[in-house]
Amino acid sequence: MKRLCVFCGSSPGARPEYQAAARALGDAMVERGLGLVYGGGNVGLMGTLADAVLEGGGEVIGVIPRDLVKREVGHHGITRLEVVETLFERKGRMFELSDGFVSLPGGVGTLDELFEVMTWVQLGYLSKPCALLDVDGFYDGLQGLLDRLVAERFVRPEHRDLLWVEHQPAALLDRLERYETPPPTDGGKWIDRS
Ligand code: AMP
Repeated sequence: MKRLCVFCGSSPGARPEYQAAARALGDAMVERGLGLVYGGGNVGLMGTLADAVLEGGGEVIGVIPRDLVKREVGHHGITRLEVVETLFERKGRMFELSDGFVSLPGGVGTLDELFEVMTWVQLGYLSKPCALLDVDGFYDGLQGLLDRLVAERFVRPEHRDLLWVEHQPAALLDRLERYETPPPTDGGKWIDRS
């Protein structure tokens, strides 16, 4: 694993623990020589994470739509800022550059990126690991919803299990680094297909 893509809030969130987790993840990535791919912003947890990796001497690649650079939220101190035209293009490029995906706490943008990765993985467009770095139960509600989707037969258990959950950066990175591409599931994505 060379580069990890991290999705996280463009706001710092209500608790100092969120920023501490972003910083701790950045430090742990630097320790292992893992580069960061992210949304290219200088705001919120995104900025905290990017600065932690940069301060440790690590590589940071940001992928950002032109419009957001114009709104002056792009981080210009990073190793490489790739400017793309659309949000769709950005996601594809982030997925291409990265060997795995992690979501820290964040808002709708973070959830959108996380679910896009899970969608690509369950359809077989992408075969890379995907995980939550949970902070104080922030993602408990989301995990409950995913379990409900499985119970109601909209998601296969093996696809729900593709989203790992860890609470400490070191444990998370250990697990990501051990990832092996699974064989394709027999039934594909669909359930009760008639
Ligand atoms: P949110 O969780 O709604 O704050 O959105 C954060 C996610 O959306 C990040 O992972 C980014 O990829 C993207 N994003 C949202 N706001 C910005 C911003 N100001 N600059 C760059 N990317 C952003």
